[in-house]
Amino acid sequence: MVERGRESMQTSEGVDLSQALRRARREGLFESLREIYDSFPETECENCARCCFESPGLFFIEYLYQVDQLAREPGPRLELLVREALEELFFSWIEPDRPCLFLEDLRCTQYERRPLACRLFGLVAPADPVQAESEARLAARQEARRLKLLGIEVPEAIVQRSLASCDRVRDRNGNPARVDGDAMAARVARLDEALLPRQVVVEEFCFRSLPERVGAAMLGGEAIETMRIQLLRRAQRGEAVENLIEIIRKQVQLPPALGGKKGGR
Ligand code: SF4
Ligand code: SF4
Repeated sequence: MVERGRESMQTSEGVDLSQALRRARREGLFESLREIYDSFPETECENCARCCFESPGLFFIEYLYQVDQLAREPGPRLELLVREALEELFFSWIEPDRPCLFLEDLRCTQYERRPLACRLFGLVAPADPVQAESEARLAARQEARRLKLLGIEVPEAIVQRSLASCDRVRDRNGNPARVDGDAMAARVARLDEALLPRQVVVEEFCFRSLPERVGAAMLGGEAIETMRIQLLRRAQRGEAVENLIEIIRKQVQLPPALGGKKGGR
């Protein structure tokens, strides 16, 4: 199985995670990110949590912010989150009931630091909601077809679960809440540019979920897809997901920035 260096972890953007964290703290980038978050209007909705069916994509600075905050969590809670992140990464395509790893009892356990993607949801109306919905379904259906060719059956509930938008988010006056999503995203992307080469920010649009990023930090980005297919096949043959995750967790260690030990195992 995969072995990784322990002292420093390369992120999927190819930079050292610990160094990037230090730089973000030193340059006040987390405070700048909080200012962007705090500039959103107060809203309310029906809190059905249907939009929390998977962990959201994060800009690079948001990932660092999450790591910075998660590193303060007690060890067992962090262990649990990492395990759930790996479960989502590998098994979300066969488990229709698995939500975002921060959703507990229909509530977001990191509401105050939820990322831009969650804050924007319902505040940016698609030009054509019906088309946006069908495009979201199309992407899921294409992935389901690809996995089927590899011998993995994706439940229809998973193809149907993605939501493109929600019209039930209201501002304090009860009106549809709106923000300029592109402008908000550009503000966060500018913080990424303080940490990454501009070309990487522009071309890669560094927007991956926490499970994807934790998985890449622990296992290496190249290994993940192959492992995912192998694990999905084993799970569909009846092996318990928790046992499969345990196999991985025994062979790799947390990045030091997420509480893993420095040096060898
Ligand atoms: S934004 Fe919409 S889908 Fe998400 S929790 Fe609120 S009402 Fe439900
Ligand atoms: S981070 Fe919170 S708001 Fe965003 S998808 Fe997860 S549970 Fe929902």
